Amino acid sequence: MKYALVTGGSRGIGRATSIKLAAMGYSILVNYKSNETEAQKTAELVTAQGTAAELLKFDVSSKEEVDRVLGGWMEANQEKTIEVLVNNAGIRQDGLLMWMTDEQWKNVLGSSLDGFFYVTRLIVSGMLTKKYGRIVNVVSLSGLKGLPGQVNYSAAKAGVIGGTKALAQEVARRGVTVNAVAPGFIRTDMTHDLKEDELKKLIPMQRFGEAEEVADVIAFLASDKASYITGEVVSINGGLYS
Ligand code: NAP
Repeated sequence: MKYALVTGGSRGIGRATSIKLAAMGYSILVNYKSNETEAQKTAELVTAQGTAAELLKFDVSSKEEVDRVLGGWMEANQEKTIEVLVNNAGIRQDGLLMWMTDEQWKNVLGSSLDGFFYVTRLIVSGMLTKKYGRIVNVVSLSGLKGLPGQVNYSAAKAGVIGGTKALAQEVARRGVTVNAVAPGFIRTDMTHDLKEDELKKLIPMQRFGEAEEVADVIAFLASDKASYITGEVVSINGGLYS
């Protein structure tokens, strides 16, 4: 059985991605941190596509939880192959750097950058053995351009972009591709508190994007059609920044 692991699969871009990958025939490991109700909803939407869904609750920023829960699943399911990994889990905790707390820094770097490291380290060896794999990291326009009030988030996402490019070169010979998608403003819980009416005036397309529009690009990069693309960052931002 071929599996795709989507971190932060319970809501937003992760949910939309889980559904698209299920439609491609993958069974989905839906990771989440705490929102079991929403994770369960994603699982139902996945099974409606005709594949299996399993919930895996762990905090990607915790090495202990990643190794115990994800490592435990891998140990118990050695006949199952994780062919696709989408490192999507992430949070923002904005504030100007001069007032940023240690917690704001650690939480944001932990969920995006440490999470990418802990999860990918576990998964990539199986892909190398099988000589096939697709890793897609969800970064952000903030990590390309830098956004004021988001030094922690910009640094975390820029870190993942560097990691994407470096890892792509480490594993290319073994048929494993590593790419990133960099969304601009996408309508999800993460952007719920933003003033969409004001911000959309800055976007050439004059609207926020939808989670499904990001998921379509992730699904393409996760497919065998994207076999000669690696180390790339694809922006999805309605023309806001290129
Ligand atoms: P969202 O709707 O807030 O969903 C966040 C997801 O990440 C949830 O499934 C959440 O799980 C999970 N999560 C958060 N911290 C986690 C952790 N430490 N361990 C495991 N899971 C964790 O956010 P979204 O907008 O879909 O964002 C998804 C990704 O896109 C993030 O990496 C974000 O930085 C990136 N992004 C978003 C936008 C945007 O405009 N929305 C733009 C650029 C980039 P629970 O449900 O359990 O809390």
